Amino acid sequence: MTEETVLQKARRLRGEIAVLQVDLDGTRRELDALEKSCRHDWTNPERIDDRVISGYQDHGDPPGTIGVDRRLPCYVPEQRFPRWMRKCRTCGLAQITEDFEEKTGSTKVPSFPATQH
Ligand SMILES: [Zn+2]
Repeated sequence: MTEETVLQKARRLRGEIAVLQVDLDGTRRELDALEKSCRHDWTNPERIDDRVISGYQDHGDPPGTIGVDRRLPCYVPEQRFPRWMRKCRTCGLAQITEDFEEKTGSTKVPSFPATQH
């Protein structure tokens, strides 16, 4: 048996990927349909790790820029966004949200996208 050339191997792998892609698409559609037809029994939302955008140094406009709207160098501080997750007890679907309403006493009440049921 002759050894597979690089081109032959690459072709074989591309072919395998194409077959797996069809399987994957079918499986995804099946899961999607199952999740859509579920009557979702949600757990209470729980806080999970904040989404964090790291702080960074903004160098401002290049030296020599003039004008009153010239941007000066400054440090842009880190930003944190609280997140909550809830899971369906029936199908296991997990939803994550960053939306919340601020209630009295700075209590944050998360809101999730409406489901069809
Ligand atoms: Zn469900």
